[in-house]
Amino acid sequence: MPDETYEQLLKKALEKAKARTTGERFELPVAEIAPQGSQTMLRNFSQVAAAFRREEKHLLKYLAKELAAPAHIEGGRAFFQGALQQRVLQQKLEGYVKEYVLCRECGKPDTKLAREGSITILKCEACGARSPVKRIKG
Ligand SMILES: [Zn+2]
Repeated sequence: MPDETYEQLLKKALEKAKARTTGERFELPVAEIAPQGSQTMLRNFSQVAAAFRREEKHLLKYLAKELAAPAHIEGGRAFFQGALQQRVLQQKLEGYVKEYVLCRECGKPDTKLAREGSITILKCEACGARSPVKRIKG
């Protein structure tokens, strides 16, 4: 029984990641987490926020609220109080994308968040749709 090569493992991992696609051509990044004492570190937090094209603070606020865990950013990584499971974080990233990244009309991720008075609007650069999004209460 030969061991799987690194390439084979990588291929498998990529196939798994592809299966998580939420939009037409949007691939949800895979949350890379690691326990850090009493906290859980989201190692690729900065890359995830960049892939979503969202402010790190906004994403952190959402995750902290959804996970009911105090959180902070340090060196491009996010730290959450408590021991969290990868799949739970992954679900929350998916939830964020559905609410704050993907267009409600066309499902594309080419969107921007814009404040209009007291509400926040998700504006789509692909189809021009505008939809109000939920405010994250701090
Ligand atoms: Zn659209």
